[in-house]
Amino acid sequence: MRFPRLAAGLTAAGLALAMTACGSAEKTVDQQPQSSDGALVGVTMPTRSSERWIHDGDNIKKALEAKGYKVDLQYAENDIPTQANQLENQITKGARVLIIASIDGTAITSQLQTAADNKIPVIAYDRLIRNSPNVDYYASFDNFKVGQQQATSLLTGLKILNADGTPGTAKGPFNIELFAGSPDDNNATFFFNGAMDVLKPYVDDGTLKVKSGQTDFKTIAILRWDPATAQRRMEDLLTSAYNDGSKVDGVLSPYDGLSIGILSALKSGGYGTAGQPYPIVTGQDAEVASVKSIIAGEQYSTIQKDTRELAKVAVDMADAVLQGNKPEVNNTKDYDNGEKVVPSYLLEPVIVDKSNYKKVLIDSGYYTEDQLR
Ligand code: BGC
Repeated sequence: MRFPRLAAGLTAAGLALAMTACGSAEKTVDQQPQSSDGALVGVTMPTRSSERWIHDGDNIKKALEAKGYKVDLQYAENDIPTQANQLENQITKGARVLIIASIDGTAITSQLQTAADNKIPVIAYDRLIRNSPNVDYYASFDNFKVGQQQATSLLTGLKILNADGTPGTAKGPFNIELFAGSPDDNNATFFFNGAMDVLKPYVDDGTLKVKSGQTDFKTIAILRWDPATAQRRMEDLLTSAYNDGSKVDGVLSPYDGLSIGILSALKSGGYGTAGQPYPIVTGQDAEVASVKSIIAGEQYSTIQKDTRELAKVAVDMADAVLQGNKPEVNNTKDYDNGEKVVPSYLLEPVIVDKSNYKKVLIDSGYYTEDQLR
């Protein structure tokens, strides 16, 4: 059966989707060469509850519009079915490329299949989408390195290492606790493995002691990166493992939002005074509240992943595929999503603490001085 010419107002992708939905074996209509000028790009971000994703979304939208594309930008407030619906809508509306920062990296396989059936390329943004062959490119940071940097700054904060990486004056033993990110986010495992790559020798030789004994990824992972869950876990750790007068010296936290929850549990537990300072607490994303906390001497460090740069990489990828070119990648081996190794462009993360925040965050124009007051 042949379809007549495109019905007015129904795009090729939308029609193909409708055909797939009504069970037709025919998946595409006449392959008219389509101009990419003003094409629609679907952008889906996980949540507005964390500042970084707001910056990412804004930066991507601005850069795509500057190149003349239309943008449908959606946030799903960490709800998986909502994100799945947003993707379906974008395909129906005729999006020609999808840029996706997924919530659960394994939960949108069928939407990606529809995208592939409609010849819509997919760019995984920051978080790798797993278990689907229909992921074309991945734009992210060196996530293993993020974890290594978090652990390195924990060691520097404890003075086990000097800033230049040479052995510091402190020998320990120090009590530390470990937190990991959401188990459905591929990045969480990379961060944790990177961190343990650095910390393990110090745990093995007794310099660091995880006093609770909780070192297994599943036990320490915080579903959906929820700050309140991290706060509760830290409170539980204080009552269960530190009720003998011992103190926590360091906390490996993979994300600023979790660090805020952890610090507030510590505050309720009597930390944050002259006699009992906060432990060394790490983070990630250089969110304003955490940078302020670093300046105030509470959180010790964070990792800046410049969302301006990441947005630029993803937009350049989208632009290249729309123009029929090959996007630039710099890694074709590390990000196997369970179905294929996804060609990636990885950016470099940067450790930020009180000693360099001005240079990294203010001098670069990432924040103004006023924003951090
Ligand atoms: C991102 C981090 C972020 C975390 C929580 C991860 O996938 O890579 O930058 O801290 O999600 O939003």
